[in-house]
Amino acid sequence: MNKMSIKKDDLVVVLSGKDKGKQGKVLEVMPKDGKVIVEKINMVSRHTKPRKQGDQGGILQKEAPLYACKVQRVCPKCNKPTRPAHKLLADGKKVRVCKKCGAEI
Ligand SMILES: [Zn+2]
Repeated sequence: MNKMSIKKDDLVVVLSGKDKGKQGKVLEVMPKDGKVIVEKINMVSRHTKPRKQGDQGGILQKEAPLYACKVQRVCPKCNKPTRPAHKLLADGKKVRVCKKCGAEI
C-alpha cells in the first residue's frame, strides 16, 4: 500500500478532469483505493426515491471519490500548489513545510 501524502482536512487543487483548477478541502481519504473525497469536487447526481407517499424524491448532489494522484496539496498560507518538504526541527521533531513560502502546513 502506498503511503498517501494527502490527509483529511488538507486543502487540495484538482489537476485534471472536469473540476481542473478547483480547490477544496479533503473530506475523506481512502488509502486502500488511493482515492480521496474532496468537498464540492467531482459532484455526481444521485436520484433519490420518494420515501413516503406525496414525497417527490429528487436529485441529490454528492461528492464521488477521485484518485489522489489527480489532486495536489495547496498551501493554505500562500495559496499555491505545493509538495510539502520535511523539515527537521532543532528538538528532533519533523514538520511539513511549504516549499514556496516556508510555512508549516
Ligand atoms: Zn506556502
